[in-house]
Amino acid sequence: MANSDLMPVDDAIDHLLRQARPITGTESVALTNSLDRVLARDYTVPADVPPADNSAVDGYAVRAGDLSSDAMLPVSGRVAAGEAPGSLQPGTAVRIFTGSEIPAGADSVVMQERVSVADDGITIDALVSEGQNIRRRGQDLARGELALAKGTKIRPQEMGLLGSMGVAEVEVYNRLKVAILTTGDELVDPGQPLAPGQIYNSNRYTLQGLLAKAGCEVVLCETLADTRDETRSTFKRTAVEADLIITSGGVSVGEEDHVRAVLEEDGNLSLWRMAMKPGKPLAFGSIGDTPVLGLPGNPASVLVTFLVVGMPLIRACQGRTAISGHGEQMPAGFSIETPSVRREYVRARKGIGDNGPVVNASPNQSSGVLSAACWAEGLAVVPENTTIGIGDTVTYFSFAELLE
Ligand code: AMP
Ligand code: MG
Repeated sequence: MANSDLMPVDDAIDHLLRQARPITGTESVALTNSLDRVLARDYTVPADVPPADNSAVDGYAVRAGDLSSDAMLPVSGRVAAGEAPGSLQPGTAVRIFTGSEIPAGADSVVMQERVSVADDGITIDALVSEGQNIRRRGQDLARGELALAKGTKIRPQEMGLLGSMGVAEVEVYNRLKVAILTTGDELVDPGQPLAPGQIYNSNRYTLQGLLAKAGCEVVLCETLADTRDETRSTFKRTAVEADLIITSGGVSVGEEDHVRAVLEEDGNLSLWRMAMKPGKPLAFGSIGDTPVLGLPGNPASVLVTFLVVGMPLIRACQGRTAISGHGEQMPAGFSIETPSVRREYVRARKGIGDNGPVVNASPNQSSGVLSAACWAEGLAVVPENTTIGIGDTVTYFSFAELLE
């Protein structure tokens, strides 16, 4: 295959997104258990948050018009947070605390540091402007506005916002059910001895970790021998249970590459060599109605292709609306002297160079080297047909952003 047959990474992602069918099943979960789930409906604000004007400081509620210089104001009441506020008698002050509702008739709060307290009242040593130190009713959320849109992933702050609106049960999409199928006659599970020719299966654990972070439910995790029959029967069985099947290995064009062959014979297949490094071969297709994402076999390729092309697909299938991050622009602390037609995703992490923050690359970028990914904290992008010199700007994606 010539280099011109390599599919640009962005085209591959677009193709996957066009094929993605967002999950439709929903469930109601307790707010406490809603972290990392995806909202299955819009949430509009049922009542103003906060529900009433309240004090931003500890101090005294007054009416600005009552104050002349050196006026002594008697303290006519006290409102602690959680108490009904009552009303302010004209010409007096009410002792008030952060979060206390403002008494009717008061229009300002003077912080206690600006007040001298005597037996018969308070004097204020500052100018008071109407409305000062008052947090307005509805300043966070106004009744009727859209607070959170369907398709939003729930982070801690969304949990809090839903709580502030009084939501106890949240309507979310069902978790995406994913099957992991690692392929290869050479694979042995950790805990077993290795015979000549065998290696330990690492991809299944990388994928388990990635899918857990991505908020998916791993419904099945099996290792397949390199035979057509086993690949076919496992695909058919798995497709019934899973919303998405992710495989590793077996997607090249050798005679032991049965993932590709079974998709072609029993489902449908789009197979590309992507213009991506690491991770050239990628298969995508379906068995029955279940999409199958066939990742390459090399351990670093699995990680990188999952993060770069797998995560956008997964987000779309999860019903999320925010599909891709932006990364950040950083000066390179490494150089790439030979341009490549493939876009390279360099295992990298931030460091400090002579002139400030830089992105450093792990020295060994081989697709079989997973230790470089453990050193790394993200991926730096070297665009197609480009060289990089020290100090040139590159886009850096942290693993955290790639998995958001
Ligand atoms: P394949 O695409 O099946 O030819 O695999 C490419 C390379 O990745 C080979 O060196 C495999 O031994 C290796 N490999 C495939 N699957 C795994 C796995 N689950 N864990 C570790 N290495 C793997
Ligand atoms: Mg193989």
